[in-house]
Amino acid sequence: MVADCLFCRIVAEEIPADVVYTDDRVIAFRDIMPKAPTHVLVIPREHIADITELGANREAAADVLNGVRAVSRQLELPYFTTIFNTGPESGQTVLHVHAHILSGSGQMWAHGQK
Ligand code: 5GP
Ligand code: ZN
Repeated sequence: MVADCLFCRIVAEEIPADVVYTDDRVIAFRDIMPKAPTHVLVIPREHIADITELGANREAAADVLNGVRAVSRQLELPYFTTIFNTGPESGQTVLHVHAHILSGSGQMWAHGQK
């Protein structure tokens, strides 16, 4: 755990979250400022900064993608868009890797939107 990391603090249950799926490797919870009718973040319990670090860790990468799959089934999402922002200039504000899952209203949540 990284003490000053917001998402590590959610993993440690120091900060409450609206959890929609969890297992021993990942947690998925609703974004506090949703940009779509359904907006869920999937994070590894382990502190990993971004998708470039995640991509070097096959087990963690599979765990996060399995978390995306599990959320889509849990919430019965017929379609969704998945975004990983990487680096502050992309809009990454929390340096603990997270997959955004966006769905709803028949809208497309395309590149550059959140
Ligand atoms: P980023 O901008 O880094 O790609 O995404 C971070 C996301 O975390 C943002 O969409 C933001 O609304 C969300 N967020 C920030 N703080 C909190 C929080 O305390 N709880 C929850 N559930 N989401 C948060
Ligand atoms: Zn962290």
